[in-house]
Amino acid sequence: MHKRDMLLRRLPSLGEIVRGSLLQRITRHSSGCAKCARGEGHPQSVLTVSYPGGATRQVSLRPQQVLQVRQWLKNYRKVKDTLEAISQLNLQLLRADGDIRDAHEYRETCARPRSSAAARTAGTLQEQLRTRRQRT
Ligand SMILES: [Zn+2]
Repeated sequence: MHKRDMLLRRLPSLGEIVRGSLLQRITRHSSGCAKCARGEGHPQSVLTVSYPGGATRQVSLRPQQVLQVRQWLKNYRKVKDTLEAISQLNLQLLRADGDIRDAHEYRETCARPRSSAAARTAGTLQEQLRTRRQRT
């Protein structure tokens, strides 16, 4: 429980995330550009986002957006990893609870011929039968 709270506290702001990957693409003009004639080309940062089924979306970034996108990508990864870590912790908690309950039920079954819930249901049924018989 303490570990889960620690994970939650370290979460980045959920609003500052983006999924995808950052890559550099170089555009080269075939003629009329001094830069490209020198072989430099125009580096362009692109955010690519893939979707189930193989579709991808690409967004060209302005240079001043790159740092922010880097941070958002890092945040997304962190949120995703944290969700997985919490999910695993909760799974362990559920299994630990299950073990305790199973052991408890086992003891009850051994101690008594039938569980209290079953006895209660049987009691209610007998009562209903009695009421019905009285009416007819
Ligand atoms: Zn060029």
